[in-house]
Amino acid sequence: MALIVQKFGGTSVGTVERIQHVADKVIDYRRNGHDVVVVVSAMSGETDRLLGLAREINPGIDGRELDVLLSTGEQVTIALLAMALNNKGCLARSYTGAQVQILTDSAHNKARIRDIDGARIRRDLADGYAIVVAGFQGVDEHGNITTLGRGGSDTTAVALAAALKAQECQIYTDVDGVYTTDPRVVPNARRLSRITFEEMLEMASLGSKVLQIRSVEFAGKYNVPLRVLSSFKEGEGTLITLEENVMEQALISGIAFNQNEAQLTVLGVPDQPGVAYQILGPIADANIEVDMIVQNIGADGTTDFTFTVHRNDYDKALGLLQLQADKLGARQVSGDKKIVKISLVGVGMRSHAGIASQMFKTLASVGINIRMISTSEIKISVVVDEKYLELGVRALHDAFGLENPTVD
Ligand code: ADP
Ligand code: ASP
Ligand code: MG
Repeated sequence: MALIVQKFGGTSVGTVERIQHVADKVIDYRRNGHDVVVVVSAMSGETDRLLGLAREINPGIDGRELDVLLSTGEQVTIALLAMALNNKGCLARSYTGAQVQILTDSAHNKARIRDIDGARIRRDLADGYAIVVAGFQGVDEHGNITTLGRGGSDTTAVALAAALKAQECQIYTDVDGVYTTDPRVVPNARRLSRITFEEMLEMASLGSKVLQIRSVEFAGKYNVPLRVLSSFKEGEGTLITLEENVMEQALISGIAFNQNEAQLTVLGVPDQPGVAYQILGPIADANIEVDMIVQNIGADGTTDFTFTVHRNDYDKALGLLQLQADKLGARQVSGDKKIVKISLVGVGMRSHAGIASQMFKTLASVGINIRMISTSEIKISVVVDEKYLELGVRALHDAFGLENPTVD
């Protein structure tokens, strides 16, 4: 029988009524002749609530015990959904990540899945059960509970679909597909019926949180057909697929934005070999990831150096930079947390010139100053003041004709 893996996110299981609704959907699929493995998130707000409790004890908390705590959110929903299914006459069994041996590395709070032992699930499916698996969690080789990072249930679902060779992995959420940009910011954004793995990976990496980055990586690597759908509204959603399956290639597929970055600048450093390393070496040693980097052409023997990091790392990075700046004899160190990165994504960019200039022209026409620019084969990103987020995204969405003609 064809196997489908379905994942339901936090809002889709946010109340008992919604869990009942999920149970009905699962039962429908089984009636249509599918085996179903369901992955669920914690009820909406629950992971944040648990995180808040832990932070009351220690604001900087991370590591092993946090995973023991956070994994309980999903344990509640698997049990409730299995109960709802059983109650409606559908045989169902729930499993935690550890019980079905979702084996991960030991990187607590951001673990990576290494292997899944599908034997137990296959046996239960053969016995006619619907299987409900806790998303976002696994177990390491020492038996410690691990979690996969925020949004990690998407990755659990795709990894299970790959391990069980499912026909499709369906991600049910509170929007009915992947849109040209976040519909919360641009109400007339358009749903894409298809998008390539490569573009979806860029969108996710550049801030569109509709899918966790790793879930898209996984789906691309193992060629798992992945579909984003609404839990609340019927429809075909968005299929994430290989490039050759996307027939009409738009120039730009979508606009992503990321509000979690902060900018740091070192002014007036000596323009000589080794300076970039001296600035960024201590940052890397402190395990802080650097995103965009810009170094100016030197003048008068000095140069300026600007880069971005995650906002959570800003204070630490600024401290390290101040220490280094003194050693380097830099004129000044400054920074800004209130920035946003806006990115255009599209495989069509490969074969078209002029997209960058149209982007810059559009931003200029609404008076937005660009602070940093970076490009790669299928994306262009700019950093601007955070206050311009909505204005910038909407102006670009219009300028590139991404709107849905049927919605105002
Ligand atoms: P879930 O709890 O189901 O995992 P998420 O909140 O993680 O749901 O993801 C769904 C949200 O992603 C949507 O409500 C939407 O605001 C946001 N989002 C951001 N970018 C996009 C996009 N390009 N298309 C669709 N949704 C997007
Ligand atoms: N519950 C986790 C979170 O809120 C995982 C998920 O929902 O995918 O991040
Ligand atoms: Mg999510």
